[in-house]
Amino acid sequence: MAKDRLQKVMAHAGVASRRKSEEIIKEGRVKVNGEVVTEMGVKVEPEVDEIEVDGEIISKEKRVYILLYKPLGYVTTVDDPRGRKTVLDLVDNVKQRIYPVGRLDYNTSGLLLLTNDGELTYVLTHPSYEIDKTYMVEAEGYVSDDKLQKLEKGVKLSDGITAPAEVNMQNRDSFTTQFELTIHEGRNRQVRRMCEKISNPVKKLERIKFANLNLDGLEPGDYRELTTKELKKLQNLKI
Ligand code: URA
Repeated sequence: MAKDRLQKVMAHAGVASRRKSEEIIKEGRVKVNGEVVTEMGVKVEPEVDEIEVDGEIISKEKRVYILLYKPLGYVTTVDDPRGRKTVLDLVDNVKQRIYPVGRLDYNTSGLLLLTNDGELTYVLTHPSYEIDKTYMVEAEGYVSDDKLQKLEKGVKLSDGITAPAEVNMQNRDSFTTQFELTIHEGRNRQVRRMCEKISNPVKKLERIKFANLNLDGLEPGDYRELTTKELKKLQNLKI
């Protein structure tokens, strides 16, 4: 992205002519990223830097949408007080301040969206929108059809009965059962707690789908921007 002189960016945003914008800068009425700028020659990127004239923001940060294949062993926060690696450590070349949409446990891998779009984040995380999330679950032992049905109908957890879910059986023997589980709630450690409840604790957990998004073509640690088509579909979820 190209940097431009502050007065040029101001003129483009319709604040005033370049000459007049220079005067406004000298008068101390302009802030860049929260700091008053009075000298000439400062260069800014309108899609990255926040430019404020008389208290009004005139720049708009470019929205970015990153689909990350989170590997195991990363925390889903922007900053970890215990110094562990965070999902943001996996993403370079993004200048905007992005943050994760929802959360995956340290020991859960899979699809995680990162963005700076607060409005979309709200829609994707608010329970009333019931956004589907599909997990590939590997659980200990043989999970009977009866138990799978319980997961589908709802199990009683400490914070209430889980909403109806969908199970798609993959493989099972006496040691391990693999199944896809689609839920739309996003309670803390929900899938692990559901499986504990039926006495088949999770051995391995990966989120393979989130709304209309999937992990096709990505390896753990990879990330890419959403396509325009994917983004449009997500934005259409807003009602
Ligand atoms: N459910 C869990 O238990 N853990 C996750 O990371 C996501 C869903």
